[in-house]
Amino acid sequence: MVKIGIIALQGDIEEHIKAMERVLFERGGEVVAIKRSGMVPSCDAIVIPGGESTTIGLLMDREGITSEIKTAAKQGTPILGTCAGLILLSKLGMGIRVTRNAFGHQRESFEFPLKIGVIGDEPFNAVFIRAPAIVDVEKNVETLATYDGRIVAAKQDKLVALAFHPELTRDMRLHHFFLDLI
Ligand code: GLN
Repeated sequence: MVKIGIIALQGDIEEHIKAMERVLFERGGEVVAIKRSGMVPSCDAIVIPGGESTTIGLLMDREGITSEIKTAAKQGTPILGTCAGLILLSKLGMGIRVTRNAFGHQRESFEFPLKIGVIGDEPFNAVFIRAPAIVDVEKNVETLATYDGRIVAAKQDKLVALAFHPELTRDMRLHHFFLDLI
């Protein structure tokens, strides 16, 4: 049975747990909330939620989780970072350069029907909340979606970075796409 770990230190943890539980109800598997070191190595995939990236990063360092995630990433464990989690993926070694709060004050939060080819033709209703954007990528990073000329979804091997919040909508296609990487 697959085990999916949600980093549960700060941010929209509950939403991620509920969304993942919905998906795993169909596919089989369990969700664990990760608050301390020692849990990451036994997970088949890891999710880093949205929230405040500086805070989540500091808490991950303090709990000894940062180095465990780096090791897991090197070993090919799929890791999904959403919003603040995308910012943290760039610090964890994913080949992306990011800018925080990329969409300015007037557009602090918005929704947009995003075209994401890898999940099909039907647009994905992407919820952006003080979202970051990817401004530069290394060669082996695949752009999955752009908005307003900026990259808002990308994949490098088994690392998936999303600037928006797939846990806040009922459309679970991105979750399935991510879990298929296991
Ligand atoms: N603006 C936040 C940050 O820079 C991210 C926002 C979010 O995760 N919803 O950390």
